Amino acid sequence: MDKVDVIIVGAGVVGLAIAAKLAQQFNNVLIIDKNASFGEETSSRNSEVIHAGIYYPQNSLKAKLCVQGKAMLYRYCQERHIPVNKIGKLLVAHGSEEEAFLKETLIRAQKNGVNDLTWLNQQELKKLEPELLASAALRSPSTGIIDSHAYMQSLLAQAEQHNAMFVAQTTMLGASPTQQGFEVSLESQGEHLSITCKYLINCAGLHSEKVAHTIKGLHKSHIPQLHWCRGHYFSYQGKSPFKQLIYPIPSDNGLGIHASLDMGGQLKFGPDTQYIDQLSYDFPSKLKEKFLNQVSQYFPNIDANKLQPAYAGIRPKLQGKDDSFKDFVIQSSEVHQVEGLINLFGIDSPGLTSSLAIAEHVAEKLKVV
Ligand SMILES: Cc1cc2nc3c(=O)[nH]c(=O)nc-3n(C[C@H](O)[C@H](O)[C@H](O)COP(=O)(O)OP(=O)(O)OC[C@H]3O[C@@H](n4cnc5c(N)ncnc54)[C@H](O)[C@@H]3O)c2cc1C
Repeated sequence: MDKVDVIIVGAGVVGLAIAAKLAQQFNNVLIIDKNASFGEETSSRNSEVIHAGIYYPQNSLKAKLCVQGKAMLYRYCQERHIPVNKIGKLLVAHGSEEEAFLKETLIRAQKNGVNDLTWLNQQELKKLEPELLASAALRSPSTGIIDSHAYMQSLLAQAEQHNAMFVAQTTMLGASPTQQGFEVSLESQGEHLSITCKYLINCAGLHSEKVAHTIKGLHKSHIPQLHWCRGHYFSYQGKSPFKQLIYPIPSDNGLGIHASLDMGGQLKFGPDTQYIDQLSYDFPSKLKEKFLNQVSQYFPNIDANKLQPAYAGIRPKLQGKDDSFKDFVIQSSEVHQVEGLINLFGIDSPGLTSSLAIAEHVAEKLKVV
């Protein structure tokens, strides 16, 4: 195999969704990942929440692809029997200032086409979630949870059914434009090889900036700087005190330390936000104190002994520590003038929710739908 139609760099949830989509249009789609299997980085280190699309600015890609992706994802999961549960979410406020944020959010959500939010007062909340402390909340009934591993497995199976090939332990080292597309150099289990392709898709997550710098002909001005922002999770032993997801008001460039459940009913709290320079999934000391402090604001009966460090994930953010909102960046030759190249930068949350819509968007950019 020295010539294919498409090379997709990165087998996270986004690369797999793109592979499943493009394999329907092209005979030879190759998807590579430097790790031993698919989805070993950000795609398996997140909250596994299907977001409603309520926070993002109107007309942003995040707003559009999240709302569109949510509907596509629920449909996909139903058709393919992937574990999913539309359990709903409460966005909770304490006091009038935070309630004003809820009112703004209600309007923003409607602008994004999310019209099913309802307002709950303190009495209604007490009845619904007796352990919850809040003065008011918005309920989002379309928010849900998903088994993201089963979802990725299904995307890969779908891509392979259409003749796509996934090769693990294979790193893209660089690419040079040719008359017909690209010559891509790869390192696969100690061996160097080169493959030509017509289309090259860079969806390397945390490494997409680094990968972009290895593509000859791509001007540096089109490569944005990524900021790595780690989020930690603590699991909570025993039965969950909540029936749905509980989110505080967003803070510190994240959605706030929320309470979410996985498909097995395990409750976890997280993620927080910590900008980092080196890729590492370590837990800093004193983190438990910070979690207890923040979570007890909406769950005052939290038992410190039941809180155990679980895992961490790293967001590939375009938004630096003091920056305002930054959208997904999905670049085609219209932007960078390199024919056949698509770069995806800053695919942080809601990337899992948006994955099928991102794949559709990429196919549109390649003009193959
Ligand atoms: C803490 C946290 C919580 C989140 N919660 C949610 C949520 O609840 N809901 C939601 O919708 N989204 C959530 N997200 C966002 C979501 O997880 C991501 O948007 C999504 O997983 C991104 O997928 P990806 O395929 O772009 O990247 P990744 O999963 O990072 O995949 C990129 C792949 O590229 C590979 N790669 C890199 N460089 C190379 C190379 N040179 N050669 C070959 N392969 C390479 C990597 O090995 C990796 O497997 C969360 C993210 C974080 C960090």
